[in-house]
Amino acid sequence: MVQASRSTVLVDCGMFQGSNSERALNSRDFPFGPATIDAVVLTHAHIDHSGLLPKLVRQGFRGKIHATQATVDLCSVMLPDSGHIQEQEAERRSKRERRRNRQPPEPVYSVEDAYACLQSFSRVNYGEWVAVADGIRVRYWNAGHLLGSASIEMEVSGEDRSATRILFSGDIGPMGKLLQWDPEGPEGVDYVVCESTYGAVERPLEHAGSRRDLLQQQVVDAAARGGALLIPSFAVERTQEVLVDLVGLMEEGRVPAFPIVIDSPLATRATQVFKHHAEELEHGAELLRALNSPHLTITETVEQSKMLDQRSGFHVVISASGMCDAGRIRHRLKNWLWRPEGTVLLVGFQAAGTLGRVLLDGATSVRIHGEEISVAAAIRSLDVYSGHADATELEAWLRSRKPVNGTVFLVHGEAPNLSALRERFGRMLATDQIMVPELDQAFLLQNGRAIEIDSDDEPRLVQVHAGQPDSSNDEADLLLDISDALSKAADERTRGIIVRKLKRALEQE
Ligand SMILES: [Zn+2]
Repeated sequence: MVQASRSTVLVDCGMFQGSNSERALNSRDFPFGPATIDAVVLTHAHIDHSGLLPKLVRQGFRGKIHATQATVDLCSVMLPDSGHIQEQEAERRSKRERRRNRQPPEPVYSVEDAYACLQSFSRVNYGEWVAVADGIRVRYWNAGHLLGSASIEMEVSGEDRSATRILFSGDIGPMGKLLQWDPEGPEGVDYVVCESTYGAVERPLEHAGSRRDLLQQQVVDAAARGGALLIPSFAVERTQEVLVDLVGLMEEGRVPAFPIVIDSPLATRATQVFKHHAEELEHGAELLRALNSPHLTITETVEQSKMLDQRSGFHVVISASGMCDAGRIRHRLKNWLWRPEGTVLLVGFQAAGTLGRVLLDGATSVRIHGEEISVAAAIRSLDVYSGHADATELEAWLRSRKPVNGTVFLVHGEAPNLSALRERFGRMLATDQIMVPELDQAFLLQNGRAIEIDSDDEPRLVQVHAGQPDSSNDEADLLLDISDALSKAADERTRGIIVRKLKRALEQE
């Protein structure tokens, strides 16, 4: 939130993801009045940047949400999808709470809220200055992270007509990303707010050639096994990138032709947006060719999706979610995991606790929809489709923004990434020029310096120490589950058995 003398602007309004106590913040009130915000400037459509906009509008925000046209279009498919997920999540929790005679929870927002908030969007073009509030104007730069993604340069006029320039990185893409041009930005700003997602990660240099070579090897191996190659993939941009490479391999005659199926309603809708904006993309013509490939099928209905389980022989199915924790991919996995001729190729980050991670860690059997499925298919992973700049690329990005006279704030990263990036940036900036703010911390920006403003408010989030699991919610849930199970037990004897089993489990620890 940027507060100037005459107006207040939000940069992004994303959903909290991650630990339970972080995600719980999505249901809490904003720490400000939504009606007091004059405008939102949105860097890109990913839910951790845009996901609370429907709630902001529902709770009284009446200004404009500024974004590139491609971001507006992606939000029109991603926010209603997110609303649907919120409704389902509330429904699931509701059943549990009703069993405990408690008030059923409301969804964070509904599909209807998501559609309503789309009315507030206003389109901006890259490279043009736009006045978004009294005394605040912005200019968007292509961040190369996702279709429509931007870094936002903001100029804030002071009472004395002085101007302060702040650059918000948004998420920054890596060099050589398949469908994205390399990130751009202005030179010479007063302050920078920089993302740190991969601040501790250095990837070997990937370029189109080696990425496609690696994919070719996976396709050849999977074809030799003879069954389906299932690719769990994030629906927006990752699916389209993988498709371009698969069709590219066929076109280049490097693999024999094979059928490809995209089986995800969100991916299908997102693909339409990519098609519409193909001219703005690097290799956009290749994407259009891939979408016209005679080997590609896109499932529409649930019936068509179910029919996929009847297919035999080598074929590729790209489906969401990318971490296998929801979506149609779980049905396909149920059908193929137990068969030695099948292959699962994980092409993205797999968070701890997700089915994708369990598979990656070599589980021999997993539970899907309450059923035990043994794992005989080959489980492979290929981490070459990242949407984020690594540490070297973040450093190069900041170097290209020089001179940066004032404070550089590091945000949007887990603790190890924040501290690694702080150290790295410390080699080109004065140490006291770098700040790693905490949630809700506020600063007065003056003459290049950042002076912390004291607050009497209770912290919204008790900081969880890095590397320590967030167990408080899990514990509370477990205690409720135990009392639930005991109250449902048929008789005293069954209750006794449950209690003895639990005791034994604790003694074994
Ligand atoms: Zn992002």
